[in-house]
Amino acid sequence: MSQITPQPGIMDISLYVSGQATVAGKEDVLKLSSNENPYGFSDAAREAYIRAVQNLHRYPNTDHGPLRAAIGEIHGLDPARIICGVGSDEVLQFVAQCFSGPGDEIITTEHGFSMYPILAKAAGATPVEVPEKDRRIDVDAILGAVTDKTRIVFIANPANPTGTFLERDEVVRLARGLPENVLLVHDGAYTEFVEGFDGGASVVDDCPNVIMTRTFSKIYGLGGLRIGWGYASQEIIDVLSRVRQPFNLSEPQMAAAIAAVRDVVFTERCRADNARWRDWLRNALVQMGVGCDESFANFVLARFDSPEEAEACDAALKEDGIIVRRVAGYNLPDCLRITVGDEAACRRVIHVIATFKGMR
Ligand code: PMP
Repeated sequence: MSQITPQPGIMDISLYVSGQATVAGKEDVLKLSSNENPYGFSDAAREAYIRAVQNLHRYPNTDHGPLRAAIGEIHGLDPARIICGVGSDEVLQFVAQCFSGPGDEIITTEHGFSMYPILAKAAGATPVEVPEKDRRIDVDAILGAVTDKTRIVFIANPANPTGTFLERDEVVRLARGLPENVLLVHDGAYTEFVEGFDGGASVVDDCPNVIMTRTFSKIYGLGGLRIGWGYASQEIIDVLSRVRQPFNLSEPQMAAAIAAVRDVVFTERCRADNARWRDWLRNALVQMGVGCDESFANFVLARFDSPEEAEACDAALKEDGIIVRRVAGYNLPDCLRITVGDEAACRRVIHVIATFKGMR
């Protein structure tokens, strides 16, 4: 028996399960399981990436200055209060690592993003799961769960996998209701799919105990690029910057992200197309008697009559080469999360579900 033992809590971590990419024996596979952008990504980002590959013999810029400047300019934020990471996952990891440890509690919610408990345990802290109300974040339940051990609260807004949205007033009520030493993480991975939403940036400006995180993986269509960022007070950014590896992002990555954030025409087109087909998808599901809350993200959560029906529908979709996401691990065993694809993808997934429901 090896004497090399992991830190307490590490072996309690369940491995993250990502959206499946293939179906055995199927060629025309439609992947609607990872909330990826069906329209790909900006041509300007592709060109910038390729140009930057010329300099791979050089170490990359370590302070991400040009990337932070571009993000700051487009979103109207102070670049000095932005930190960039390998996906927003890495920024969330910095937060858990810097602000929690053994003996501390991190609050997550009933259907919260599955990385939160993983990051809590990796930091040695204890995740505490709080109930939601009808798949919506319940501010009072969170405030009621705070103890003197609580250090961090993680919420995603819009939330994954429910797609629900917490209004600004409620986010502020949560931030102000927390003890001053508890950090609220407002994870805005799906911000851009909500028209006119700032992702919580103004809440950060009003409440010093809030950090907003964002990603290039969703509306920008750059999940494979692995870039995310956070915006918080100067003090919090200063703390997080101490654990960031100096060369965590490569030049091609940063060059592509700069071009992507500047390509507002592409982003706006994706937002509008997503809104259109998201609503179409939801209406089609509701008309078939499948439950579906209003979604503010780039996916919908289809609620079936039972876990068995959800499983059978998932199998019928796979049989047709369509991969959606089972979310039993999110306390939603009767649900399937379906990424909003383009028109053809939405029509194809609805055709299969309608056939499954015996409506065609
Ligand atoms: N937060 C939420 C709510 C997410 O759904 C995701 C992606 N699944 C992430 C963060 C992480 O995204 P990334 O690391 O690609 O930026």
